Amino acid sequence: MKFEDLKITRQFLNAIEDAGYSSPTDIQMKAIPPIRSGQDLIGIAQTGTGKTAAYVLPLLQTIKYAQGDAPRCLILCPTKELVMQVSQQVDVFGKYTDIRSLALYGGVGPKSQLEEIEKGCDVMVATPGRFLELYFKGGIVSKKIKYLVLDEADRMLDMGFMPKLRQIFEVIPNKRQNLLFSATFPERVEILADEFLLFPLRIEVTPPATPVTTVSQELYHVPNFMTKLNLLGWLLNERSVEFQRVIVFVRTKLLAENLSKYLARKDFGEVRVIHSNKGQHSRMNSMDDFKAGEVRILVSTDVSARGIDIPDVSHVINFSVPREHQDYVHRIGRTGRAFKHGIAITFADQSEQYHIGKIEKVIGQKIPVLELPDAIEIAKTTIEERQEQAMEVDRQKRKEDPNFKGAFHDKKKPQSRKKKFVSRSKRR
Ligand code: AMP
Repeated sequence: MKFEDLKITRQFLNAIEDAGYSSPTDIQMKAIPPIRSGQDLIGIAQTGTGKTAAYVLPLLQTIKYAQGDAPRCLILCPTKELVMQVSQQVDVFGKYTDIRSLALYGGVGPKSQLEEIEKGCDVMVATPGRFLELYFKGGIVSKKIKYLVLDEADRMLDMGFMPKLRQIFEVIPNKRQNLLFSATFPERVEILADEFLLFPLRIEVTPPATPVTTVSQELYHVPNFMTKLNLLGWLLNERSVEFQRVIVFVRTKLLAENLSKYLARKDFGEVRVIHSNKGQHSRMNSMDDFKAGEVRILVSTDVSARGIDIPDVSHVINFSVPREHQDYVHRIGRTGRAFKHGIAITFADQSEQYHIGKIEKVIGQKIPVLELPDAIEIAKTTIEERQEQAMEVDRQKRKEDPNFKGAFHDKKKPQSRKKKFVSRSKRR
């Protein structure tokens, strides 16, 4: 099928051609016609499937050209990064029109955004919090909004945006077209969909929670933190030809910060770190440098990784196994995007095996296990780390069976290994 078959008009076909897309993806084929005909729609699709263009193209074609000053289309996204990425696509596809779009997100003062809004806009791409903030400042006229998109709805709910979304539904016109996109469709997304969509058409491009097929997955059982560092160093060194552009996922901001410093000190190439405590500019600069290929390694936590659009990441490394099992799917979706092949490697210690089991249930497949290469120095597990792992295993067993009496009591908390990592690095 060709874009022409989807009744896309010339100015958008030209923009699509400039973007280098030769044919529509599955979600685009399925979603563009019903959106064009004004239907409410639920699209279950992961990032990497082309879902953004699947709603941006038909909406722009409906909006056609600039009109008045108040926005007619509102696209809500969970994170600043996704807002930026979506608004970039609005600009790419709206290139041969005079449609005006604005990206609104927090972390920067509202003044300049209020000034921009006053100049007039047709499409607003915003995080829910910033939209409401600007609305309550009297900066947004919402009565012309006729098209509403909720992108990455599952993530918005994970991040606690439900009350804000309800507030937004209160302040925009009832008569509108609603589109909801989500990588997964758990019950809470269903509740949200019931609340705000009218007889929606539901389309799905991959079964929920199935990792994109272009990603190979590998799992290493690694006994402890220091051995994880050794393995990471070995992969970055010995397989440097393949490991060109790497995202390393960790569980906490502190670990992200410390690991990035460690990698920078070891001279594995340019390193950047993004997490929610990093300022807006720093995150944007890091992303731009990474995209431009000037940075080899990006260390990231889960929340900040949402919505990152980097088409050719060679490897995703899960330095820590995500406790939110769905995040595994999101993480590995960062590689193998836009139809290229990618590799996702996970390091799991004994206490993380439990989560691996849960993740394998979510993705409906076993992750192939690789032997640790002989060259990897196996560090001894410290007493503190052994205790911490045992406590984590106890916690997991208690979760499964609330009557379980573990070997460790929560009160006996040993010093955290991250703290130790900080002090050790300071000593050097
Ligand atoms: P998304 O799922 O919207 O995050 O898109 C993932 C990636 O696919 C982005 O880098 C898009 O630029 C790219 N993409 C979207 N539609 C197409 C298409 N029809 N052909 C090729 N690449 C596409």
